Amino acid sequence: MRVRILIALTIVVVLLQGGALACFADSAGLVIEQLNKKYFSLRNTDTDVRRLQEWKSLAAELQSFAERFSESSEAAFALQKTAIIYQQIFRHYGKREALDRAIKLLKKVQQQYPRHDIADDVLVQAGDIYLYELRMPEQADKFYRKVIVSYPDSDMYSVAVSRRKQLLVGRVSRERVKSRNKTERRQAVNKHRPVIVIDPGHGGEDLGARGVGGLLEKDVVLAVALELKKLLSKRLNAIVRLTRSRDVFIPLAERTNLANDFEADLFISLHVNASRSKKLTGFETYYLDNTNDKSSRKLAERENASMSFEGEQGDLQFILSDLIQNAKLEESIMLAHTVNDATYNFIKKKWPVKNNLGVKKAPFYVLVGAHMPCILVEMFFIDNKQNGLLLAKREFRKDLAWGLFNGIKKYLETESQQKK
Ligand SMILES: [Zn+2]
Repeated sequence: MRVRILIALTIVVVLLQGGALACFADSAGLVIEQLNKKYFSLRNTDTDVRRLQEWKSLAAELQSFAERFSESSEAAFALQKTAIIYQQIFRHYGKREALDRAIKLLKKVQQQYPRHDIADDVLVQAGDIYLYELRMPEQADKFYRKVIVSYPDSDMYSVAVSRRKQLLVGRVSRERVKSRNKTERRQAVNKHRPVIVIDPGHGGEDLGARGVGGLLEKDVVLAVALELKKLLSKRLNAIVRLTRSRDVFIPLAERTNLANDFEADLFISLHVNASRSKKLTGFETYYLDNTNDKSSRKLAERENASMSFEGEQGDLQFILSDLIQNAKLEESIMLAHTVNDATYNFIKKKWPVKNNLGVKKAPFYVLVGAHMPCILVEMFFIDNKQNGLLLAKREFRKDLAWGLFNGIKKYLETESQQKK
């Protein structure tokens, strides 16, 4: 009898603990969701770190999250973001102690979570601080070597190897692109070459949507963008610039600025979709507009990394109305239709995909302020099992690039015929 009571009690305790754990995980998820919203809202809009107090209090909140939920896999991400905040503070205020703090936090991530997805990333980040900010190559080298020794199969391995090569030849300056942009642009005008900016969404600590088997939106879209760049330069003789060609965070506003500086003819932002139910599948393309459609707004909110529409509604409306007068709305709509259908139809011929979700409008921040026809493509759903498995395949990504290429080509041909 007593034994039975004991067993029953044990079961109750286990159940309660299980419940408590689930609850714990839920609240960790909710807290970090809010903190991430704040983080990306600042990171995307306040590139000069003018709102220093907000940045500092967010750093404190992220760090206390990491302590409170140290068992959660989000803790490592939170510490990494805290380190990035201190790095940003250093860049704008030159406070050395901010940089020391950043390095300490990055080391802590690797030591505390050596098997985490970002354990190799934080080592490269710390090395980069020594190399680029502090100009201390020997210190930097220790971190790159650690990546090579401890994480030989990681994606950061080749980065660490190439950084060490840079160290050997003593070339530590980052490439400057602006002056090159102008010259290339002039050449393009002279030779009637189209100038196209491809924007692989997200990057760096902004992972984008997360999918089946740990697949990340930022990696899928970068792979497609690199393929697309090859096709456009080779087959259309286009001048192509990517807003990022590696795994790095670029603020949304900077992406459009790059396209404007470059006086691009087209701006195409690449993304993959996700849904709460994980059941949705399909392909869709957006052009910029202030829409009242609920689901489009929801998607835009996520892709904008929460530019807090409620709070900045006034501002956003203003920017949008300005844009809608300036931007080439008609052309953007035509570009959206051409690229959407060409890509979907091309993929459909070779792969078991369904649902051409068509062309929609939404207030995507990354498209705001672009002076050229601009669209945002959502290439299937990364968190849907069937779509996600395809997106993980190299051949499928290549075909996505081919489909997009066909669409862009067709658009440019129609455009030039209309001009004649
Ligand atoms: Zn996205």
